[in-house]
Amino acid sequence: MSSSGGRLEMVFLDCGKGDAVLMRTPGNKCVLLDAGKPEAGKKSVVPFLQQTGVNKIDVAVFSHPHQDHVGGFLSVLDTFEVGLIMRGETNVHPSQKQQLSEWEVYDQVLEKVQSKGIPIVIIEGRNDMVLGPQLEVVIFGPFKDQLWGNVNDSSLVFQVRHGKVRFLLTGDIGKTSEKCYVERYQYDLKSHVLKVPHHGLNDASSLFFIRHVQPETAVISCGYSTLYKTPSEAVVERYEKENTRVLRTDRDGNVTIVSDGETYEVVKQQNKENTVRDRQ
Ligand SMILES: [Zn+2]
Repeated sequence: MSSSGGRLEMVFLDCGKGDAVLMRTPGNKCVLLDAGKPEAGKKSVVPFLQQTGVNKIDVAVFSHPHQDHVGGFLSVLDTFEVGLIMRGETNVHPSQKQQLSEWEVYDQVLEKVQSKGIPIVIIEGRNDMVLGPQLEVVIFGPFKDQLWGNVNDSSLVFQVRHGKVRFLLTGDIGKTSEKCYVERYQYDLKSHVLKVPHHGLNDASSLFFIRHVQPETAVISCGYSTLYKTPSEAVVERYEKENTRVLRTDRDGNVTIVSDGETYEVVKQQNKENTVRDRQ
């Protein structure tokens, strides 16, 4: 890799069944996208951030309200100063708000954010943000004009563009929203690295979507769960048939991707002592 310019680091944390991604920008800003379940926040995410020398999270991003994404922020917010919260507008059918156990954790997180006086920015529709000379974030959705039947589909979907290297972050979107994104954005979705939607379950990662993103590297954030087998073997095969290298946090540990703006490297690091194994 060339040494010109700063490096961008994206760490997909091994946090059991959930998502937690730490992005460190060339200007040394920290962005934490999701923080796993409450237990994972305490046992995986906070210790990892401390060991890595993070002392402030400049931006915390909530992909969507489910507790395997936002629950860990309960511990993160207790431990670190957080500058700003970004979340998508959750335009979902009212029936979706009846899954109380999920929303309870989210409400606790929002209360904590409020008690600490951290500003929240709510995002809808396309937003292009220039964060530095080589760094742009393009937010594709959730859309302004769409009422989703499922909270997962309302996940924040965005692309990080570091020079020529592109990362696509997709939360837990499913096939319905994948189709909407492809219809709206076509090959703008094309990315070198894809955070595979919905922990590699088969209700996402349609071939139509994969063929538009054309990822070289796909990272699946997943852990053992007796409720769901993640990732689905069919999903892994689908990526591999499209010549995508599949990495999984349950097998590969913390997956770090380091970009210099021209190309990128993958580093795998087992994180056994901080790993949470799901019981549910
Ligand atoms: Zn999830």
